[in-house]
Amino acid sequence: MLPRRIWLAAAFVFFVVCVSVAILFARDTSPQPTVVPISQLLNMADRHEIAKVTITSNTLYATSVNGQQYQAAKEEQQTVTEQLRHDGVTVVVVDATSRPIGASSIAALLPLLFLSGLIWFMMRRGGPNNQVMSFGRSGARRFVQGGPTVTFADVAGVEEAKQELAEIVEFLKKPEKFRSMGARIPKGVLLIGPPGTGKTLISRAVAGEAGVPFFSISGSEFVEMFVGVGASRVRDLFRQAKRHAPCIVFIDEIDAVGRHRGNNVGGHDEREQTLNQLLVEMDGFDANTNVIVIAATNRPDVLDQALLRPGRFDRRVMLDPPDINGRRAILEVHARSKPLAPGVDLAAIAQQTSGFSGADLANLLNEAAILAARSDKPAIGREDLEEGIMRVVAGPERRSRVVTEYEKSIIAYHEVGHALVMKALKHAHPVQKVSIISRGQALGVTVQAPKEDSYLTSRAQLTARMASLLGGRAAEELIFGDVTTGARQDLEAVCDLARRMVTEFAMSELGVVATPPRDGGSLSSEIAANVDREAMRLIDQAFATARAILSERRDKLVEVAEHLKKVETINGDELDALLGPDWTFFG
Ligand code: ADP
Ligand code: MG
Ligand code: ZN
Repeated sequence: MLPRRIWLAAAFVFFVVCVSVAILFARDTSPQPTVVPISQLLNMADRHEIAKVTITSNTLYATSVNGQQYQAAKEEQQTVTEQLRHDGVTVVVVDATSRPIGASSIAALLPLLFLSGLIWFMMRRGGPNNQVMSFGRSGARRFVQGGPTVTFADVAGVEEAKQELAEIVEFLKKPEKFRSMGARIPKGVLLIGPPGTGKTLISRAVAGEAGVPFFSISGSEFVEMFVGVGASRVRDLFRQAKRHAPCIVFIDEIDAVGRHRGNNVGGHDEREQTLNQLLVEMDGFDANTNVIVIAATNRPDVLDQALLRPGRFDRRVMLDPPDINGRRAILEVHARSKPLAPGVDLAAIAQQTSGFSGADLANLLNEAAILAARSDKPAIGREDLEEGIMRVVAGPERRSRVVTEYEKSIIAYHEVGHALVMKALKHAHPVQKVSIISRGQALGVTVQAPKEDSYLTSRAQLTARMASLLGGRAAEELIFGDVTTGARQDLEAVCDLARRMVTEFAMSELGVVATPPRDGGSLSSEIAANVDREAMRLIDQAFATARAILSERRDKLVEVAEHLKKVETINGDELDALLGPDWTFFG
């Protein structure tokens, strides 16, 4: 796309240059008049050698009877018209402000020509799909039966997402069944996950499983350069979709249109109109509209709250980057159509591809297949796969984070540090998952899940949370004798929590602190100093607790962290099994 665009631009510039050169050249070859004194010109007129004179302010252009061109200047105010007329010369007087239309004025039009060319060019830039003539057409691509059908069997490593979407497939297949129960059929599903985790793929699989048409458009395609086009595209898309119901409308990169509407003055920008139209369309679905909108994003945090309200995208499905088992399953899916040499172990490849997304894994197998084909092998060998990994990691399309063995070790101890402190404190929530697969900003995660929804949090729970947050840093210190920047977010969270415990929850020795109203003011410097001191004390206590737990149970820390390095993800039950029946609360 881009090279073609640049090529077009170059061709256009070349064309403009040619035209201007041609015009200048044409001007230069036209016979230049001979400049003569006015006296000589008048003498020639007397001798009846001049046929015609054109006067432009103080310049005379003369044409002689035999076609010669002359030019002469006259004094200002002096008029020669009478005398020339007397000599039988045709006299033309041209107003100085309206020059004859000649080459010079065409040259003056050049910038205009250039500008209109540029506008034409910009209008075309979207490619054949969105030419000016087709404004308002949604341009949605439609994949109906007959196209390559994708099913759930082609999607691997995202079992929870598949389960949740299986329900949508049911709705599409047997809407009456749900309607007779009085169930409200969902209108929108929001798929959330980093790039390459299979959001597009799984949406197509839903359509494939249900055997319904699939309309797909990207949020960025809605946001055009002309105001109002996006909104009319949305209208057109839904008109098409309703005609082919039951069907799926897939909106990729919905954050391009669905960013929360800022309080920018003037407010009615293109994106906002498009978003409003989308909301209007979704609200307009009645009980018999069997259209399900699936939208994908990797930035759920920037979405407008209006999109997430009930009756819109109220179902949310997360697609996480695959763990080792997920990676293996994805590799198996993509290896189905490829001959693998005997002895190739996909589990080993999964082991070596920590941090790869589904798209990276598909890419890796493809690179390996290309390598094997190029060396005329009958099947893909281990070396091809390993070279494929290198290509995906080091190639230009690199999106995955490569983690060295040493970093992996630090991350493992850090995460297990969090987890063991949680497990050792009675008031901490149960550990659900420990993982060293990076997600977003975090290099690893330890997930806690409260046993039940709770609305009140006790001081003991908050101090336990602070100690758990510091467990990562404490483990690094204990094992490596050094600390890393990896704990930055933990430290921020701890400081924030400590401060809130002092000021908002009055859980320190200061008692109730008279805090200023939310909309302004600040603590007096004396109180602020006390708050800081109390917050520091809470943090120190929490850190001491974390350190004490981990040094007392160092053996378990090492054992679990080393295991985590191998398997990358441990769930709550596995953690309990590793800790054994003798594990007790601390203190
Ligand atoms: P996203 O839309 O989340 O960016 P895509 O669905 O476009 O990701 O994924 C790109 C390609 O990567 C897919 O066509 C597929 O080949 C492969 N892929 C990604 N995730 C998976 C998965 N979970 N299972 C199988 N293949 C996957
Ligand atoms: Mg996609
Ligand atoms: Zn941490």
